[in-house]
Amino acid sequence: MTYRELLKTVDTEKALSLIGIEFESQGGYAKFACPQPDCESKAAIKEYGDKKNLYYCPKCKSSGHIISLVMRTKGIDWNAANDLLSKAHNNTAKRITEELNINYELFYNDFIKAKGIEEEMCKLLEIGVPKGKTMLAGSVAFAVRDAKGMKVAYYGIKMKDGKPVFHNTFNPEFYLYNFCNIDFSEPVCFTTDIFRCVYNIENGRQCVCNFGLPYLSDAQLNLLHTVDHVIFLVEEPLVKPLAIQMAENKMNYFRFE
Ligand SMILES: [Zn+2]
Repeated sequence: MTYRELLKTVDTEKALSLIGIEFESQGGYAKFACPQPDCESKAAIKEYGDKKNLYYCPKCKSSGHIISLVMRTKGIDWNAANDLLSKAHNNTAKRITEELNINYELFYNDFIKAKGIEEEMCKLLEIGVPKGKTMLAGSVAFAVRDAKGMKVAYYGIKMKDGKPVFHNTFNPEFYLYNFCNIDFSEPVCFTTDIFRCVYNIENGRQCVCNFGLPYLSDAQLNLLHTVDHVIFLVEEPLVKPLAIQMAENKMNYFRFE
């Protein structure tokens, strides 16, 4: 994807949340504190249309785009910024209403073993490396079920670089991995790392996962709303944004571990 394409596909508000920038949305623009160190004015970034994801500060005249803003805010290089922004893509896929009619032949291997996950658990949850030429070749594939237990997709993690791979008919925002197996009377752990999720299940804890998104989508918040006690197992940078999301949505008891 070229950077121009990236600018078109990235959801501005999601991207700003992702890098921890507070903003106010106003008529197609998001206003945020100007990134220029000696400027105390507000810059505006366009959320739609031609100049989408380009920003400008009317006071100090500094300008740029969402990628340079991510690089600057996070102190990371171009490639790392692109990777991060790939998590803020618009995904227009709808909720899946029919059971997936693909069944991969899945294999257990040393890569999965090194994650501390046993073969029995892989059989139970339909996890493994698919045989043959599929989009998920070279990945560990996880069968994804909706809240009622219907299989809707496979979600893959590439063994080479840990990047996610899945068909564009699947929108991870609509689901929480393993949610269909939850006993609501017991505490439920939450993690963004699907391997960690399975590892916890294997070790006797209930666990769900949001497929590596750095935030909770509305649908995921709705699912968590039905849980009395949520334990977050997440990395430090996500603690504050998730705590804010949970508090703003008046969630039941939750804590971080
Ligand atoms: Zn400025």
